Amino acid sequence: MPARISLDVDPPGNGQYFTSKEVLKGRVIVNLEKSTTIKKISVKFFGASEVTVRSDDHNMDGTRRNIQSPPSIGRSFHEIVSQELQVFPPSNVVQAMNGSERAFKVEEGEHDYRFEFKVPKRAKCWRRHRKNSNNIFRGAISNGIPPSFNDRLRKNQISDVGTYLYSLGRVEYRLEAALYYGRSLMWPKPFKSADVAEKRIELIPGDSASRLVGESLTPAVTPATILDSKYVFTLEDGTEAWTEVHADRLKSVYRLDLLFQQGCGKFDKIYVAFSNLETRDTLQLRLVRLQLNLLEFVTYLAGEIGNRNLSSLCLLNIATDLSIDPKTLRQRPDDDVLEAPLNLLGVEALQQFRFNEQDYKHKGNRLFSFTSCNIRREYRFQLFLDFKDENQNVFQTETQTNIVNIFCESITVQENPPPYCIDKSTDTLPVYVT
Ligand SMILES: [Zn+2]
Repeated sequence: MPARISLDVDPPGNGQYFTSKEVLKGRVIVNLEKSTTIKKISVKFFGASEVTVRSDDHNMDGTRRNIQSPPSIGRSFHEIVSQELQVFPPSNVVQAMNGSERAFKVEEGEHDYRFEFKVPKRAKCWRRHRKNSNNIFRGAISNGIPPSFNDRLRKNQISDVGTYLYSLGRVEYRLEAALYYGRSLMWPKPFKSADVAEKRIELIPGDSASRLVGESLTPAVTPATILDSKYVFTLEDGTEAWTEVHADRLKSVYRLDLLFQQGCGKFDKIYVAFSNLETRDTLQLRLVRLQLNLLEFVTYLAGEIGNRNLSSLCLLNIATDLSIDPKTLRQRPDDDVLEAPLNLLGVEALQQFRFNEQDYKHKGNRLFSFTSCNIRREYRFQLFLDFKDENQNVFQTETQTNIVNIFCESITVQENPPPYCIDKSTDTLPVYVT
């Protein structure tokens, strides 16, 4: 082999993945065993969002399709980036050549050529969509370019149908360096005109994260969203009860966010509500278990067909023993409903609980929401609360939140900021022991 070509990409600033604020930089390294005639060496920066979907087994009216007829398959490919940079011969030489395709003799040994690519703000397919945007997800374009997704899943890692269907959508970015030989070498190897080196790039733009940081740091001004549990349960005396989460900051959740700590605006205000509670003074109800799941909905779109994949990730499942104090029951001003807050301050595990502390990777993907032209990844939280009465009857409530923007970045500047105190009196001065 006369030449060996490889790509050396400078690592990203955070050591893990590239963001849109960075420039992709690196070197193409060419090792020549002997002097070689080379036409050009170029580096390409590619990015695409692609999905494969299959039509449902049901017709539009809900009847089952004839299983003899094979499901129809749809494919969708959107080009996000396609840039090419010629690193050899240098641009001034190419200009001087005035369009002629000359090859150059390069001496044996190691040669390296630097390259740089800026990450674009908009997907390349964007302009095409402004005319015809019926078959793409709403919001895809305003969100900028999508993050890498499913680009690590390899065929040998797919062991079940669920993972297979999940793997049918992918956002991939890669750099590709190619060395094109001059004519003298083309002759003996007519089918081998170029040597190629490839590197996959993990890119998480993060623009939308920084845009939304402001929202989560400023005090909430809108009234809290009240999320009722899906079903009511009935106590032995016939009273109907349900749970409510009062949340004013559940639009966006960043990694390491505290989810239950007082004042966080997420799951810190949970109420049990009772209609027509006759036995209010003798109420004996305890919260015995709390489970928080993250539900992921990934939808792939091609033409008229959309396929959805659902995953459920258990974030927290703890046994508790939290009595509802009848003294804290209060009547709501405009109806007969009584409500009591769950005193979550008393549960240490909840006060410490941070979202996605372990930086979990679901099927190889970090946890973040995004919308590309043909892929939409969305999240909701699902909260299960188990209660027990004095006769050991167990009642469970389930609450699902609205869609939440999930970010793999953390905006927690300091994990545990030291308390800032001002000495008010000399009492707090250290006491010297004599
Ligand atoms: Zn597109």
